Amino acid sequence: MTTVHDPLPAGVDPCDAPGHGHHLLRLEEARARIIADVTPVTGRETVGLRDALGRVLAIEVRSALDVPSHRNSAMDGFALAGRELPQAGTAALEIVGTSWAGRPYTGDVGPGQCVRIMTGATLPEATDTVVMQEQVRVENGRAVIGAGHRTGENVRPVGEDIRRGELALVPGTLLGPARLGLLASLGVGAVEVLRRPRVAIFSTGDELRSIGEELSLGQVYDSNRYTLHGMLSRLQLEVIDLGVVRDTREDTLRALEAAAQQADAIVTSGGVSVGEADFVTETLERHGRIGFWKVAMKPGKPIAFGRFGQALFFGLPGNPVSAMVTFCQLVRPALRALMGAVEPDPPLLLRATCATRLRKSPGRLEFQRGVLERQESGGYAVRSTGHQGAGVLRSMSEANCFIVLPLEQGDVEPGTEVEVQPFAGLV
Ligand code: AMP
Ligand code: MG
Repeated sequence: MTTVHDPLPAGVDPCDAPGHGHHLLRLEEARARIIADVTPVTGRETVGLRDALGRVLAIEVRSALDVPSHRNSAMDGFALAGRELPQAGTAALEIVGTSWAGRPYTGDVGPGQCVRIMTGATLPEATDTVVMQEQVRVENGRAVIGAGHRTGENVRPVGEDIRRGELALVPGTLLGPARLGLLASLGVGAVEVLRRPRVAIFSTGDELRSIGEELSLGQVYDSNRYTLHGMLSRLQLEVIDLGVVRDTREDTLRALEAAAQQADAIVTSGGVSVGEADFVTETLERHGRIGFWKVAMKPGKPIAFGRFGQALFFGLPGNPVSAMVTFCQLVRPALRALMGAVEPDPPLLLRATCATRLRKSPGRLEFQRGVLERQESGGYAVRSTGHQGAGVLRSMSEANCFIVLPLEQGDVEPGTEVEVQPFAGLV
């Protein structure tokens, strides 16, 4: 049963709000409340461009130069003055030289003349037009050009990409490959970024063993630390792995203290189900703050959110699929906010025709696991990966998307359109 635990300060307590109590909290509501409680990190460091991948820009970047800094050709072809273009018939222009990229033609271009030019090469001063080479016939050192061309064609003006003084990137920009390239094009070799948040993880459960240990009856290997480590590393977060923590009061307190000392956020799995030996919740109630939520989602109904010391705390369900789904849907957006990223994580959703029958009871938003394929006829088809138990990690490893089934949805018949969320960049 959901209970109101030691309330969080104003705006933080997830349990006080209407819609809680015995009701399930909607996922969007849970997500919004968590994000509202996150303050981005403020520490900064300067890193070289290659090391800036996946980092969050701390400052705004304005261009110190025009890109491109010179008028240049968008094509391989012939540079000429627009007035040389014939209205009808052809014009035969004498080819007086070549302008290479990085090695411009510095001679004159007079009436009746043109210059052979390469892509990216500077246009000679007297020219303003490039006719692409596929549209030119070369005869006896002359370029024969037909009618139908336009003055200024195939010319890239100065500052076409970005002008001197123009805003290139704003603070909070997550630096992907294109943005690193843009910075490089501005001659920027190092940037000030926000420091990487540190996230401590541990797994709780007496039944868990680490890899390399013998399994006795009733024991399983801890897989959640590996899925979490992977998903956190993809976000360029610093991961502090505190291992498996036994289900005792002392071990749980010690682990949480160690975590809070080093980390900005703590992500644990297991021990948030109702009614079990639950020292995570108990310890947070006594030494920190915790909200204990039942979110109307499947898998992953019980999750805990709060603080221990200064660190954000996320207590995920232990079932391996539940841990991954709740991480993606609730923790990841919060960690992006902690990183200082201002662009929302785009919830990429596609419509697909469901090829298999899906079982579902109304009442919770479900994230079933599917395989999405492009159909020959256009559009997408998705099929279930099969058994959808919250403990069946294979359903995740064989999938490339979530099939997102709305709260009120019941069973899905084959041929029905459903919404899917591809894993690309998410999982
Ligand atoms: P709990 O949320 O602690 O009640 O755990 C629910 C189920 O998930 C149980 O079957 C646990 O054995 C399993 N489980 C919990 N933590 C992990 C983990 N770190 N790796 C693999 N399975 C786990
Ligand atoms: Mg447990």
